[in-house]
Amino acid sequence: MGFFGFPFFGESKREEVDICAIASGSNGNCYYIGSSDSAVLIDAGISQRALLFRMAEKNLNPEKIKAIFISHEHRDHINGARVISNKNNIPIYMTNQTWKKSLRLYRPKNFIPFKPGDIITIEDFNVYTFLKKHDAAEPCSFRVKHKDVNIGVFTDLGTACANVKKHLRKCQALFLECNYDEDLLWKGRYPYFLKSRIDSETGHLSNIQAMNLIKEHRHPNLKLLFLSHLSDENNSPEIAMAAFDKFKNQFEIVLTDRNVSGEIFTVTNEK
Ligand SMILES: [Zn+2]
Ligand SMILES: [Zn+2]
Repeated sequence: MGFFGFPFFGESKREEVDICAIASGSNGNCYYIGSSDSAVLIDAGISQRALLFRMAEKNLNPEKIKAIFISHEHRDHINGARVISNKNNIPIYMTNQTWKKSLRLYRPKNFIPFKPGDIITIEDFNVYTFLKKHDAAEPCSFRVKHKDVNIGVFTDLGTACANVKKHLRKCQALFLECNYDEDLLWKGRYPYFLKSRIDSETGHLSNIQAMNLIKEHRHPNLKLLFLSHLSDENNSPEIAMAAFDKFKNQFEIVLTDRNVSGEIFTVTNEK
C-alpha cells in the first residue's frame, strides 16, 4: 500500500471476504459472508443457540452481523430468525410475501421489507436480491458484493432461471444447491408426489443440473464452489462430488455437511 492508503500505480488492491456454511441442508441453512468490519447472513434456519455455538467454534464474531436476509419462508431457512433478531438486535430483511406466508412464531419484529430486484447496501456490502423458481410465496436468492468480490448463495432452485444465470456469472465463489441424485430420488422411498415436487421446476436442483449450470455459466475466475443443501435421503457426498470431478483442477470444490458448520474460506479478487 502506498502513502495515505492509496495503492501505488501497478499495485493491485487485494480485497478479502470470509465465507462459511454455518448450516446447509434440509435441516437448516445459514451462510456467513464477512469482511474485516462487518458481516451478513443469508438465511437463519437454525436456532439462536446453534448459531452462536457454531460461530464461536469458528471464532466468528456475532457482533459483526449487520443484517440477515431470508430467502423464503420454508422452515429450514427461517426458523431461527425471530429469536436471533430479537436477542442479538439484528434486522431481518425479507419480502412482504415471505413475511406473510411464514409461521407467526418465526416472524421477527425487527423486519425490513425488500422487493426482489432491490440492491441493499449493508455497511461495506451490496446485496443483490432476485426472484428464483421454488415453491414458496416469493422465493429469492442473493449475490453479496464486497468491493470486487462477489459471493452467490443459490439454494432451493427448481430450475436455474435467467436471474440465477445472470448473477452466477459474476461470482468468484458460490454456495450452489446440489440437492439430489436423480437415480437415488426416483428409486428411493419417498412418495410419488414428493419425488415429483423435488424434481419439478419449483423444487430443487439435482447434482447434474447444478453441474451443467457451472459448466455453462460460471465466472471465468470462479475460485470456490460449495456443494450445498444436499439431501440426506436422495444424495450422498461421494455422488455429488463425482458429478463435479471434471472441474477439480479448475477451482476448489467443497462439500457442505448438513450436521456441522464448514471451514471458513477467504475469497479474494486476485486472479
Ligand atoms: Zn431449503
Ligand atoms: Zn425451500
